[in-house]
Amino acid sequence: MTIAKREHKNERIKREKDPLDVLGDLERYAREGFGAISEDDLNVRLRWYGLYTQRPQEDGFFMLRVKITNGTLAARQLETLGRISQRYGRNTGDVTTRQGIQFHYIRIEDAPAIFRELAEVGITTSGACGDITRNVTGCPVAGLAADELIDGEPTAWDIHNHFLDNREFSNLPRKFKITVSGCSSYCTGHEINDIGLVGVRRPDGEVAYDLWVGGGLGSKEHFAERLGVHIRPDEAVEVSSHIAAIFRDHGNRESRHKARLKFILIDWGAQKFRAELETRLGRRLTDGDTPDMPVTADRAHVGIFPQKTPGLFYVGAATKRGVLNGDQMIAVADLARQYGDGTIRLTPTQNLIFLNVPERNCLPLAEALRTLDLHVEASAFRTGTLACTGRQFCKLAVVETKSRAADIIEHLEAALPEFTVPLRISVTGCPNSCAHYQVCDIGLVGDVLQSPQGKRDAFRVFLGGHLGNGHTFGRELDVKIPVEEAKHYVERVVRTYLDHRNGVGESFQNFIARHDVAALNVF
Ligand code: SF4
Repeated sequence: MTIAKREHKNERIKREKDPLDVLGDLERYAREGFGAISEDDLNVRLRWYGLYTQRPQEDGFFMLRVKITNGTLAARQLETLGRISQRYGRNTGDVTTRQGIQFHYIRIEDAPAIFRELAEVGITTSGACGDITRNVTGCPVAGLAADELIDGEPTAWDIHNHFLDNREFSNLPRKFKITVSGCSSYCTGHEINDIGLVGVRRPDGEVAYDLWVGGGLGSKEHFAERLGVHIRPDEAVEVSSHIAAIFRDHGNRESRHKARLKFILIDWGAQKFRAELETRLGRRLTDGDTPDMPVTADRAHVGIFPQKTPGLFYVGAATKRGVLNGDQMIAVADLARQYGDGTIRLTPTQNLIFLNVPERNCLPLAEALRTLDLHVEASAFRTGTLACTGRQFCKLAVVETKSRAADIIEHLEAALPEFTVPLRISVTGCPNSCAHYQVCDIGLVGDVLQSPQGKRDAFRVFLGGHLGNGHTFGRELDVKIPVEEAKHYVERVVRTYLDHRNGVGESFQNFIARHDVAALNVF
């Protein structure tokens, strides 16, 4: 007897009404209020427009996520985002690890006005959440870096435009993430995206993209696999579209835990996946070798760096654990106009970059940013700490993250003021890994600790994860740290590294890699 597989309940909801059609109900919901929203729209379809109920749901507020292709914003756009934050979101704002912006405390009554204000400056939320192609991320210094192989931003925009509001791809089995990077730092995490396009110079001198497929974190992390092909920039949209179609047609629709593209890669292997892709394309793709990749200890772009155009610089400033409130957005937009060319890019490390800044303006800009608590000469801790939304707003979170991360940064800055080694610390509220704990040097993920006094908020600990050359997931230690003690714990880890590394040149990643878990449990 064969037992029919049961599809996940979200599949019915997506099939009965295309989630993109929920936009037609928005004005009515805005008029009639939170209580009028149907359960299926509230819990599923509104996510396609970036609206996600926030904790506690009874209060009737939403998180709203906005897509920023390649992280690129004109001053006018950032100013609009700042006004929206002030007017509708209690001045909240976070830079996400997909180079987007999130607001909190959004009311459904205000959603149509917000969407109109966003549309006036060319910003969309369509596809910001849900089972659809998410924000297409890209190199935050695209077009600027002297050692760049290819300016990937036009490719990122072409892919964005192809998938935006495209009903062929509005009901995927789960989220679908694409990134394009063309500089030598490969800083956008192609290893953990569903599709990663990575700039490469071919032996014949042509510049192309090396194709990586099927990366993802979450509860079962998997690095993207190379398909062994190089694709031309003008093939990028077509190839991405066919990969999304493979996902749409073959992805698991019974279990959302097994629904990401990575599970197809795990089942099929890269060879079968490439064969299916080539069958759909109707041609063989060009074979290609892997590009050289640096160990990506420093992908943050924080500081002052020369651009390829003589006399111009890009200036990267660190946020404190991704927070950028509405007041800061408006002030940053002003500074971008005053000192640069009015363009800002958000980075996957939750930081900001000002583009095309003349040399004479670099230091005044850095000084002005300092007054906003955005730092160009930032500590390694501020530069490298990521934090997800956490329990303040996220319904899935086990622990609070943003204030814990701030606490950790401030403690480490005071305790270890001379520390300059690039270090990525992730403070993540649950195993969903929005702050990428598996690929950070020190990954803290929310959990519960049973103690004689009862249950306590705690962090599980992962050490030694990183992207780039030799990318590896962090190894979990046999410890749980009460959240209040996390800052002291991280300090002990960093001090042990400083005291026992093989000379100043040994990276944190290397130090961790040469110790087994038993030795690391002593921190
Ligand atoms: Fe929420 Fe978990 Fe994502 Fe953090 S990692 S934002 S707690 S779902």
